[in-house]
Amino acid sequence: MADVLTVRLVVLLSLAVGFAWVLAHQVLGGRHRAALVALAVPALALGWQEGSDWLLRAQYSAAVSEQVGRPVRVDCQRLTGAWVDPTAELGFVRFGPDGTPDDVARLEYDACRRLNAWMRSDRQDPPLEQVVAVHVLAHEAEHLAGELNEGVAECRSLQRTAALAERLGASRDQAQELAVTYVRQVYPSMPEAYRSPACHPGGSLDLAPDDPAWP
Ligand SMILES: [Zn+2]
Repeated sequence: MADVLTVRLVVLLSLAVGFAWVLAHQVLGGRHRAALVALAVPALALGWQEGSDWLLRAQYSAAVSEQVGRPVRVDCQRLTGAWVDPTAELGFVRFGPDGTPDDVARLEYDACRRLNAWMRSDRQDPPLEQVVAVHVLAHEAEHLAGELNEGVAECRSLQRTAALAERLGASRDQAQELAVTYVRQVYPSMPEAYRSPACHPGGSLDLAPDDPAWP
């Protein structure tokens, strides 16, 4: 099974080795300028992509750490993982037998891809799948904070999605609109385990009961 991230890394390393080999010949007096350019161009393009994805993951980790209140990490699942994943979950946090959460949240391949697309966009009127991807990050943050109950994690996170979106570069209006879109268009059709009867303005899961705004 092809694993795009691994393939990219292997191709990148092969190009680097080829580049070093040709460079060595060039330095030793050979005439391999064309080969040098032919190897350098794809190597730079792939390296740029690899580095840019890595920088995005670093931003997710920083933004989620702020929500959780301790240093945590966000990882992107590899394509092979997505194919063999028996669950439709978009994100995952492992818990120890004593109920202690791991320090790493894993995002499913498509969730990560959509989140990256949102990060590289102007964030104006994103498609619903990108709205969900941003929210998933806020949802997994609640698990990283120790919440096991899906209904509670979902209710808290939908109230924290706007703040997270803003930390990831959205304007205040864009962030608020994204959170409202999630609550109106996605939350009502979530499985029952994700919806709590206490999740409404003034309910016991309302993080700001004095503030009538929702979420
Ligand atoms: Zn969950």
